[in-house]
Amino acid sequence: MGSFDRINHEALLDKLGTYPQLRRLIKAWLKAGVMEGETLFPTEEGTPQGGVISPLLANIALHGFETAITTAFPKEVEGKRGPEGKRNRIGWQPRVIRYADDFVILHPDLGVILEAKRRAAEWLMGMGLALKDSKTRITHTLNEHEGRVGFDFLGFNVRQFPVGEFQRRTCGRGRTLLDFITLIRPSKEAVKRHYQKVAQVINSHKSAPQEGLIKDLNPVIKGWCNYYSTVVSKRVFGRLEHLTCQKLLRWAKRRHPNASRWKTTAKYWNPDGRYKWSFATRHGLRLWRYDKTPIRRHVKVKGTRSPYDGDWVYWATRMGRHPMMTGRKAILLRNQKGKCPWCGLFFKQEDDVEIDHIIPRVQGGKDVYANLQLLHGHCHKQKSAHDKGCAVEEPCEFESLTHGFEDEYSGRLECLV
Ligand SMILES: [Zn+2]
Repeated sequence: MGSFDRINHEALLDKLGTYPQLRRLIKAWLKAGVMEGETLFPTEEGTPQGGVISPLLANIALHGFETAITTAFPKEVEGKRGPEGKRNRIGWQPRVIRYADDFVILHPDLGVILEAKRRAAEWLMGMGLALKDSKTRITHTLNEHEGRVGFDFLGFNVRQFPVGEFQRRTCGRGRTLLDFITLIRPSKEAVKRHYQKVAQVINSHKSAPQEGLIKDLNPVIKGWCNYYSTVVSKRVFGRLEHLTCQKLLRWAKRRHPNASRWKTTAKYWNPDGRYKWSFATRHGLRLWRYDKTPIRRHVKVKGTRSPYDGDWVYWATRMGRHPMMTGRKAILLRNQKGKCPWCGLFFKQEDDVEIDHIIPRVQGGKDVYANLQLLHGHCHKQKSAHDKGCAVEEPCEFESLTHGFEDEYSGRLECLV
């Protein structure tokens, strides 16, 4: 689905549920039309496409879409008879994934998909939107359906492949063996689009210094690699690395048509560890390599959590990073599983959290992860007072306690640092 130009203004404004002043302002924006170059496209209906506000309004307009589709179906139905003659209950609600005005509905049963499609169209009608037939399709991820296998969504291609007996993986709580694997990879169009972009940057730097080229290419390549670093991209990364390198060789050759190949490569490529072909200046500015991007699987976000819910304990524990936290705090928090070792309570959002040296710096404690812990502000004060009390005397009760922590954490921390 991509058509968003005929949205019902009144329905959208009602959903915003905002105060009259802002309502009038947004109404004016919706009516304002779009400037594209010199020409003005008045929008009688719809939101300004491509504007900053348009994805936000799309999100507001389509809020609740997922639940509306999911809850229209029973939670469970009776499945086939198991080996003991008992019928298994199997989940029956379709999975709906939506991003702005693009969505996917997943279900093993074709009948459910068709019904979900009908309901989706009905729901969207209420917002004055329609499913575009050219952009809506039904497909199967393993077998061919209507001449296609798998689907593309947000630049990813989702497809399943049959595997042999020895490659079968277990899945779910039932530990059933699946005779297929699911691969999520960068979609062909996305790869093509990206390479075109890279080629365009290189072409526009034909006579620019190498430094400028690297500075302009790095954000393009790094951003793309980050986006795809959570899925099966290794092979695509390798391919793109090769293509980019070829393109850069031509770029270098063009600048020095009479120099030998050895001389040109020595000028623009500097080996970086095991990577012999690293496009870099003499001053050490390097081009980001696709195949150097580590691939790490995405950890699914729990239920309806949002990074804006402010629950940084959850977010930092989940991914070890949050905009409101420093990297050290996030790593420590994750290692402590969100708990304060002094009082044993979980950190809450509103708590103030401080980094503490388990063996104080004045007593020769080092500034390394094995010697760090997160404490509540007030617990930190208590501990500091305690530390001062036993700075001179022989090991006290507390010191044996800290040694315990050290042992407990050091093993896990070493692999992180
Ligand atoms: Zn505490």
